[in-house]
Amino acid sequence: MTTKTALKITKISNSRLTEVNLDDPGFGRVFSDHMLEVEYSDGYWKEAEIKPFGSIDVTPALNTLHYAQSVFEGMKAYYIDEETINLFRPEQNYERMARSCERMCIPVLDKETFMEGLTELIKLDHKWVPKKDGNTLYIRPLACAFDPVISASIAENYRFFIMTSPVGAYYNKAVRLTSSQKYVRAAKGGVGFAKASGNYAASFYPAKKAQENGFDQVLWLDAKEHKYVEEVGTMNIFFVIDGVLVTPELSGTILPGITRDSILQLADYWDMPFEERRLTIDEVMKAGREGVLDEVFGAGTAAVISPVKEVHHDGESVTFDTDSRGPIGQKLYDTLTGIQQGRIDDPFGWAHPV
Ligand code: PMP
Repeated sequence: MTTKTALKITKISNSRLTEVNLDDPGFGRVFSDHMLEVEYSDGYWKEAEIKPFGSIDVTPALNTLHYAQSVFEGMKAYYIDEETINLFRPEQNYERMARSCERMCIPVLDKETFMEGLTELIKLDHKWVPKKDGNTLYIRPLACAFDPVISASIAENYRFFIMTSPVGAYYNKAVRLTSSQKYVRAAKGGVGFAKASGNYAASFYPAKKAQENGFDQVLWLDAKEHKYVEEVGTMNIFFVIDGVLVTPELSGTILPGITRDSILQLADYWDMPFEERRLTIDEVMKAGREGVLDEVFGAGTAAVISPVKEVHHDGESVTFDTDSRGPIGQKLYDTLTGIQQGRIDDPFGWAHPV
């Protein structure tokens, strides 16, 4: 559906904000006063409503609980001043969600309703955006099937929600990664490019195994040859090899990160040599052995740029003796957070004040 739906706003009578410590909110456990909800039935999205955040009453037969016909997004709102809250490239989240919905047979909500609902929700709950440096209001859009039916088929009813949660600064501890020859995240033709709920459920077991072996996350390799590097947990992966920034090309199995795209645009803008291409784990290990693996970092909304201190593959490790980002990772981090927090020039128009 491409027609914009109306937006109704029902405000809470008493804010819960006084019960929350915005300086130390944890992650994803506390939710702001309001949420957006849109219902889909009879073949179209109904009136969008901003209403008090609260539980929803569902039957255990709800098909989404069984078959995960469900997709989501993750973005952040940044405190600038009493009048201004910044979003970062929110239309990119909409576009990615639309592609995820399409792959999972979920009807796509129109862009105007998404953007209006999002901005009105953030405006209404602007006091929930933490002021403390590094803390943000995490925004979680979700679209899921809503039939009270345990039949494994495309649903007829759907719900779209946006909820927001104040979150603490992500601690940028350097991460240890291990490849897996046994488990894969996504195969060609599958749903790796979509932010589909089931992708995350399927990654928990291999991640747990990696943690039992002393690593933080799995460095995913391609499903067919277990040879090409793909991505990590909830981050895209970047290497600096002999001065060149390299990241795996989008092959349909990797989530097209908005941070990833921003990094590539910045590298281009700075005339920094960069490559988006297929890259084998053997090439990474060889670069490490030869002393030309300058930096490794993960990139995503949560951590922005997260330094990697170990890449382990097939009994061998390349390590970095530091918890800090390298110079390229740090320059990217400073620029991205500077734009997000309105501290530096934004030649791309990425900051989206509401
Ligand atoms: N890969 C995966 C699997 C993710 O879940 C995320 C987080 N959305 C990313 C990469 C990074 O994407 P973004 O930069 O848009 O947060």
